[in-house]
Amino acid sequence: MPCPIKLEGVPEKDQVKLGVPLGSKDFTCDYVKDDLLTRLKPVLERLEAFEDTQAAIYLLRVSFSIVRATHYMRTTPLDQWKEHAVSFDNNLKKSVENILAVKMTAPVRKQSSLTPKLGGLGFRRTVDHANFAYTASWHEALSTAQEQWDRPDGVPEEYKPQSVASFEFDQAVHTELVLEMETAGKLREAQRLQCLAQPHAGGFVTALPSRHDGHDTIIKPRTFRTAIYYRMGIPILDQETSCPLCMQTINIYGDHATCCSKSGDLIVRHNALRNLVERIARDGLLSPELEKKGILGSAPGRRPGDVTIAQWEEDRALALDIAVTSPLNDTNIRTSRSMPRTASTTSTTRTSRRARLTSSAQSCGRRSVQSTARERTICARSCALPPCARTTSTALTAAACGPASLAASSAK
Ligand SMILES: [Zn+2]
Repeated sequence: MPCPIKLEGVPEKDQVKLGVPLGSKDFTCDYVKDDLLTRLKPVLERLEAFEDTQAAIYLLRVSFSIVRATHYMRTTPLDQWKEHAVSFDNNLKKSVENILAVKMTAPVRKQSSLTPKLGGLGFRRTVDHANFAYTASWHEALSTAQEQWDRPDGVPEEYKPQSVASFEFDQAVHTELVLEMETAGKLREAQRLQCLAQPHAGGFVTALPSRHDGHDTIIKPRTFRTAIYYRMGIPILDQETSCPLCMQTINIYGDHATCCSKSGDLIVRHNALRNLVERIARDGLLSPELEKKGILGSAPGRRPGDVTIAQWEEDRALALDIAVTSPLNDTNIRTSRSMPRTASTTSTTRTSRRARLTSSAQSCGRRSVQSTARERTICARSCALPPCARTTSTALTAAACGPASLAASSAK
């Protein structure tokens, strides 16, 4: 539909209004190329030169990726500038690779284009989402103008917000990725993808790297890259190796290091998480107690919950237990199609003994303790690398657990 507003003295084919090319298709194509791509490359090169990998990825995602193309996605049909959209996406992909110092395979590229909520890095591709943005804007503008417009080809009759349409698209891609891995017999990869779609699993990707409130959201470049590799299923080691502490096999993804019982990191992370839970409870004026003594009597082998809240519900107390485990261990990989066995579900079994012990406190006539395994277990979805690599282990904890665990890990 021709634009009713025209610039005087400018040919029909060269019309531009509010930065939107309204002229011919060739004119529009060249206009977008000059505006979008010419200015993009110098900015990307500067970001790639950043020494701070975390900050570079953050800035690329929130300021220079699809956000930079949003103006044209919203105002100009994709078919008028598709070749430049493809070029734009390729430029971004190369920048991500240069910043992370890794070449992305097709599945990794596909995963990186997902929203962090579904395990991606938030580098959505313009060509995938431009039509959602354009059609949503067309409906929104029509509603605002309250006029009668002819609906362009390709614009559906029904309005759907761009955020909804984009998230549905990402969900379909995520499902497809999981199915591909399952079909190929790569159950670890399928489970990894499903675990990454759990709430807050991508928190470390979206957390603002800022020292304003301390150092908890700052990750060193090498550590950040390792965390991203682990998240994206990129091998961290060239080949399998033996754990120098317990001689068990560490696969190329480094899974064993997350749960090597010989590594002090396990206890350090457990205590960091325990302290974080206690701090949150204390901030909530719940008067928590760390490993409350005597609650289970004097019998040997009995241990209290990591954090106990004496006044929880009426005359009942609440005991919280913290378990550090990994959903990607061989023993935790699910073999049938169902919800992924996250760290919390797998650790439920491990803590059942303590649940029984806690229950016994009730039969002893002591103050009753509310303690189903699910309620009492808070898990660090751990992941890992060679246990000697302390910073790497921190990165993997962050990768799997998001900002809360990141804070806990950084606090140690
Ligand atoms: Zn080990």
